[in-house]
Parts: sequence; structure tokens; C-alpha cells
Amino acid sequence: MASKDSSGRAHRLVAQRLEALERAGVTHVPKARRRASAAPPPAEPPVAHEMPTASRAPAVVSSGAVAATNDRVAALAVIQREVAACTQCSELASTRTQTVFGVGNPAARLCFLGEAPGADEDRQGEPFVGRAGQLLTRIIEACGFRRQEVYILNVLKCRPPGNRTPLPHEVHNCRGFLNRQLAVIRPEFICCVGSVAAQTLLETDVTIGRLRGKIHQYQGIPVVCTYHPAYLLRNPAAKKDTWDDMKMLLRQMGIEPPGAEGK
Ligand code: SF4
Repeated sequence: MASKDSSGRAHRLVAQRLEALERAGVTHVPKARRRASAAPPPAEPPVAHEMPTASRAPAVVSSGAVAATNDRVAALAVIQREVAACTQCSELASTRTQTVFGVGNPAARLCFLGEAPGADEDRQGEPFVGRAGQLLTRIIEACGFRRQEVYILNVLKCRPPGNRTPLPHEVHNCRGFLNRQLAVIRPEFICCVGSVAAQTLLETDVTIGRLRGKIHQYQGIPVVCTYHPAYLLRNPAAKKDTWDDMKMLLRQMGIEPPGAEGK
């Protein structure tokens, strides 16, 4: 009985990982069946769907690729547990409802990096779920992706009271978690939304207005910076600039931008 249970569990795990890989861009792999009765994996960040690309080359799933994906999920889970227990920023730790780690595909080609959780995110434990988050989702979809196909995270994992701007020591405290998340995910591209994300990642004090419209580098990863969706809600005219940035990003990714305007 025990060996049957072990075999069944191993089968499910392999099927889940193969599906994640398939959704990460690997084709020619039969989609794994989901079992309604399967219990959700404990303490794992939400997994993974593919990043669509302009053209996909046929690929073969190797056991090494499965192991690599498993490693990323496990490594993120370790960091997530550390974040959940973190009290380095006493004010944030004492006022948060919960930490907000990140969400999406652990093997994503593209990460979106924001500033910090707001009230909705603090309540739900997921980044970019409020009005600004809904606009970010529309931007992602206008690029031809699904929200689940990318990875979304913030510089800070705790909500600053009143949504104030993160303080320098808070950014410093949380920087290690961000670095480790990105080191695990190893995205091919990063999009910073807003000045805090852009200035933190690129370690600069240049304004977002001057950072956008160019390709930057973070540890060899191309980085595009654009306006935060919350800013776009207040300044709809700037949506055109953000869409221009998204088109530049897509071209960097080898994807022909859709003709539709980002709305
Ligand atoms: S913001 Fe980051 S460093 Fe500060 S308490 Fe939260 S998890 Fe810890």
C-alpha cells in the first residue's frame, strides 16, 4: 500500500512539473490531467503557466528540467517562509495583516517588479490585486500574456501604513529577499513599474521619467522601467508611454507587439 501511495504521489508531482514546463514554453508534451481530489501542495507559491512567445520551437522535457523547476519551487518556498516570519521592519511587521511574497510562474521569462503591497494586497496576500493591480493585469494581457504566465513581486513584502513610500531602511532590509527571489526565478527580462522598483533594482536615483524608454541591465538581465499602474490611474495620458515601453520590452523578447493599444 505504501509503495502504491508513493508511486501515486510521485506520478502527480511529475505530472504537475511537466505541466509547468509545458506552460513555460515547452510544447509537444501532453497536458497533465488535474485531479479534482488532489490536495494543494503545502507552502508552495502559486505555480505556473506559460509565457507565450511569438514562435515556439519544439522542445523535449528532460528529467533535469523537471528537477530544475522543482528546485525553484522549493527554493521559493524556503524564502517565502522566511519572509512570513520576518520582523526586520518593526513598524511594518506590527501593522501588516500578512506578508505578500509574490505570485506567478517560478520559471517565468518575465518578472514585473512593483513597490509594496497596498491595502488590498495586504488583505489578500497577493501583489497587484487592487485597482492598480487590475490595470497591471490589463497591461500584461495587452502584451499577449496571462497574469499567471509571468511572475509578479514587490520590493517590500509588507504594506507601509497608509501606503506611504517605503523608507530607505525598509528597502535595505527587504532587498535580500528580492535578490534571492530573482536569483531563483532567473527571469530573462524584468519590468520595473514605478520609481521605487526601478531605483531599487538599478541602484540609482534617476527619475522614472528618465529611466523609462531605455533598456537597463540587472546582473545581465535586460530591465525595462515604466510608470506604476497607480500613477497611470491618476494620469491616463501616460498610458501611451507605458505602452511604448511594453512594445520595446516585447521586441526585446523577440515578440512582435500586438496592434491593439494598451488600455
Ligand atoms: S518589509 Fe521585508 S524586511 Fe521588512 S519586515 Fe517585511 S519582509 Fe521583513
